[in-house]
Amino acid sequence: MLGQMMTQPLLISSLIDHAERYHGGTDIYSVEGGGNVTQTSWARVAENARRLGSALTALGLQPQDRVGTLAWNNRRHLEIYFGVSGAGFVCHTVNPRLFPEQLTYIINHAQDKVLFFDATFLPLVAALHEQLSEVQHFVLMGPRDEAVLSQVPDVKFYDELISSGDPGFEWPTFDENTASSLCYTSGTTGNPKGVLYSHRSTLLHSFASNTRDVIGYSAMDTVMPVVPMFHVNAWGSPYACAMSGSRMVLPGPDLHGEALVNLIDTYGVTLAMGVPTIWQGLLAFAAKSGSKLTTLERTVIGGAACPPSMIETFRERYGVDTVHAWGMSEMSPLGTTNYPMAKHVDLPIEEQHKLRENQGRPPYGVELKIVDDDGNDLPHDGATQGDLMVRGHWVLNSYFQMQDQQLLSDGWFATGDVATLDSDGYMTIRDRSKDIIKSGGEWISSVELENIAVAHPKLATAAVVGVPHPKWDERPLLVAVKAEGEEPSEGELLEFFDGKIAKWQIPDKVVFVDALPLNATGKVLKRNLRADFEDALNG
Ligand code: ADP
Repeated sequence: MLGQMMTQPLLISSLIDHAERYHGGTDIYSVEGGGNVTQTSWARVAENARRLGSALTALGLQPQDRVGTLAWNNRRHLEIYFGVSGAGFVCHTVNPRLFPEQLTYIINHAQDKVLFFDATFLPLVAALHEQLSEVQHFVLMGPRDEAVLSQVPDVKFYDELISSGDPGFEWPTFDENTASSLCYTSGTTGNPKGVLYSHRSTLLHSFASNTRDVIGYSAMDTVMPVVPMFHVNAWGSPYACAMSGSRMVLPGPDLHGEALVNLIDTYGVTLAMGVPTIWQGLLAFAAKSGSKLTTLERTVIGGAACPPSMIETFRERYGVDTVHAWGMSEMSPLGTTNYPMAKHVDLPIEEQHKLRENQGRPPYGVELKIVDDDGNDLPHDGATQGDLMVRGHWVLNSYFQMQDQQLLSDGWFATGDVATLDSDGYMTIRDRSKDIIKSGGEWISSVELENIAVAHPKLATAAVVGVPHPKWDERPLLVAVKAEGEEPSEGELLEFFDGKIAKWQIPDKVVFVDALPLNATGKVLKRNLRADFEDALNG
């Protein structure tokens, strides 16, 4: 017997309809290129999204055509998210920090028909537009500016496009499995690969994000996604915030500590999300300026391992609860978040704090397991480590337009991470499989060593990589960036590991650098460090 409830397709247009109807007056603050802040609302975002959907349809776009963006977190980008997907096209957010060759590859591979870009990226688009053979319409995200015409011929202007659109445009209805957005992984090895999300996967991910033990955005929250909208859809926050009617603060291009602290204090941000490197800058500035980050209640930190010292600083100095999260582009991205369980509340407070350090447990909708090299299941005992496999409603099935893929193994996706799982599903990421250090047949987690190192008060940041060693194959090397005005010695840094980790796991050596090389999403490029310091322990 069929269930006798209504069936409505899970479409992104329904999110913005909801936000308009029930949270239309809720404010959204957007930092523009020049640094000035504009104020909009869910109602205005919704109207402009409809205008945009209608204008793109009038341009002759066909269902499922890709529409690229090169843009920061701002209000026009938010309108594009809903206008493009809502009208049945695919919103392809391109990471502008990639090398020009990668950008050209991605935009051509995706066959973007339209490319929206912020004024900041005008020089980039001017340099690349001739190679972007599929793009039929370049659209500057702003008002008309005659000067741009000489750099990108036939360029269109977003604000004019919006004015030409119909505010009464009706969203089309289609199958919820239709593609809605596209995001390429940063491709630290080989060409970037596209992950194509569907309306259904996006909606289910939003429902899950909005549960209390995941992120649980609320109409009481003022949410600042510092994670870029070109990085896995800002972790899905635009969709989930529309669903819950949260206020939003879109921080634009300047993600330095000072700018972020000012936004938090000025607009009363209660919840902010981003990668650990961003929060290092923010905490440094907050300490310098004396800001107490009064309104901030929670930070969600993921994308790379969040050092326990950072969780502690947020908690002890600012009363901010840090939710450590893990995920990846292939998972939309949320896989796990660290919230405690009822049985934990009677534990001693130190133990409760310790439990918050790992990457957390999966919500309904994501399953995790670990396997050995032959694919055999390993125990979830909190100690055995293995290759982490996932499956679920918002996990990738196959990469966009790639031939000959045999991606899944028995229906599970291999994450490339090495992890332990305990019987409640709490996961600790030990490393990316390519970063784990193999010393004389034993494995050393670079993440664990980094977590210790960055807690040293004389270091600004640090990374640990395995480098060739004549006897042990590989040994850990600590690559350290000194804190401003500090001069730590190699000896005192290495002593800092004593008692915190087995002796044989302590790095062999420290090298100091001015800055760590970061990839386009703010993660340390360990491949470069391994190449740079290949000979550090030889001879
Ligand atoms: P890429 O960096 O390959 O473009 P993602 O941004 O999707 O792709 O990154 C996913 C990877 O980032 C994960 O597989 C994992 O290695 C790492 N990662 C994400 N969150 C965490 C975390 N909280 N702790 C440790 N590693 C993390």
